[in-house]
Formats: sequence, C-alpha cells, structure tokens
Amino acid sequence: AAAMVSGLLALAVARASLRALDDLADTLERLGRGELEARYPMRGSGEVDHLGHNINLMADQLEAARSEFDREKADLKLRVTGQTRDLQQANRLLMDIANRDVLTGLANRRRLELELERHITLSKRTGVPVAVIMMDLDKFKQYNDTAGHLAGDALLQSVATTLRARARATDLVVRWGGDEFCILVPGTSPDGALKAAEGFVGSIRDTAAALQLPDSDVVVGASAGVACYPGDGEDGTELVARADEALYQVKATGRGQVLRLPRAAPSPP
Ligand code: GH3
Ligand code: MG
Repeated sequence: AAAMVSGLLALAVARASLRALDDLADTLERLGRGELEARYPMRGSGEVDHLGHNINLMADQLEAARSEFDREKADLKLRVTGQTRDLQQANRLLMDIANRDVLTGLANRRRLELELERHITLSKRTGVPVAVIMMDLDKFKQYNDTAGHLAGDALLQSVATTLRARARATDLVVRWGGDEFCILVPGTSPDGALKAAEGFVGSIRDTAAALQLPDSDVVVGASAGVACYPGDGEDGTELVARADEALYQVKATGRGQVLRLPRAAPSPP
C-alpha cells in the first residue's frame, strides 16, 4: 500500500511538473510572438517556477522597454508632424514673399507670368477669354523729382490701393515694376477689357489728383495698352508684349489714353 501511495504521489508530482513545463513553454511561445503581457503563472516553488520567475522578470523589462519605445515613437511622430506643419507654413510664406511687391503689397511680375499662362491654358480648353492691361503712370518722374522719392512711394501705394479696390475679385492687380502696373482680367471681351482699362486709368487720375502737389503743374495720370487672348498673342509673353506695344503708342501720341492695337492684317499669299 505504501509503495502504491508513494507511486501515486510520484505520479502527481510528475504531472504537476509536466503542467508547469507546459505553462512555461506556453508563456515562452507567447512572449516569442510578441505578446509581452504573457506571464508564467507561478505555482509555488520548484525549479520550473524559479525559471518562470526569471522569465517573468525579463518579460517585465521587455514590456517596460516597449512602452518607453511606443511613447518615444508617439512623441517623435508629434514632433515630425509639427515640424512638417512649420515647414509648410514657412514655404507658403516664402512663396508669398517671392510673388509679392514689397512697396505696394501687390502681386509681382513673377506671379502675373504664372497666372497668365494658367489662364491661357484654361482659355484654350474652355474658350473663356483673358485680357492684360498694361499701365504706366504719366509724368511720374517729374512728380518724384518735385515731391521727393518718399512722396513718390506714397503715390505708388495709393495707386495700388485704388486699383485693388476697383478690380473685380477675379482680376489680378500687379506691380510690373517702377511706375508700371498690369492687370489680368479674365472672362472679359476685348470691349469689356478696354472699358475696364478706361476705368482703371480714370481712377488713377483721381487718386493722383488727390495727391497733387500745391503750386505745381505736374499732373500725374496713366496710359494703358490692352491685349486679349485669343487674338493678340499665342502665349503670355506675346500678350504682354502686345499690350506693351499699345501702351508705348499711347505714350508716343500723347498720354492718358487706352489702346488695343488692331490685329495685323494677314500677309498676302
Ligand atoms: P512717362 O510719362 O513717359 O511714363 O514718364 P514718367 O515721368 O512717368 O517716367 P518713366 O515712366 O519713364 O519712369 C518712371 C519713374 O518712376 C522713374 C523712377 O524715378 C520712378 N520710380 C521707379 N520705381 C520707383 C519707386 O519704387 N519709388 C519711387 N518713388 N519712384 C520710382
Ligand atoms: Mg511713367
């Protein structure tokens, strides 16, 4: 009977050890799969439990390291997102600076060239016309020489404000350079563009009259040349050149007028 009891006891101990080994193997397998929360269920004592205890300690460390890693990853992601946003903002600012005239705050020539090409491409597809009005102040140099460069600057700024206020939301008012302004007018017929140009020239005259120097016969005004797509050029460069040509004819034949050159007659066959 004693032998049987001790046999049964040995069997029970062996079974318990086997279960513990199974648990240990299971824990190791789960840890190996990356389930770092897996722990060996401690059973009390014995060699297997000792091993299990050490494995649990190692799993604790692995889990803590992974939490730290996850935290740092989230932190890094946040920093990268923030820096990307800052970079995009800085890029937008740089683009804005690159496309804007410093004195008047108007768009500059670079921006006009980009927008004009875009509108011409669009016009080829949709048939919506686009016009450029090139304007140059009359007698501005005399005004500058009489009133001084700062007063000249102030007049240029007032002209810019006037043009911007008069332009439609879809127009683009540009300081081309010096005392030259250019307005991109999309969606307008040639007649409409000429009328718009007359309006702009008139508003510049009014603005300059308000800044007329006392006791001076220098009267600042503006002249304008108009060119339209389609008809007056094949691309932005040709269109601007045509408007410029018209502007210089106005300058040559007196000032304060608006002109669109007639289309060149087709050469005989
Ligand atoms: P016109 O009637 O033929 O157009 O002659 P104008 O007197 O208007 O002189 P023009 O257009 O030939 O020259 C423009 C002048 O504008 C020359 C320059 O002194 C002046 N100017 C150019 N840029 C600036 C600027 O940023 N500020 C000021 N105050 N003057 C400028
Ligand atoms: Mg001028």
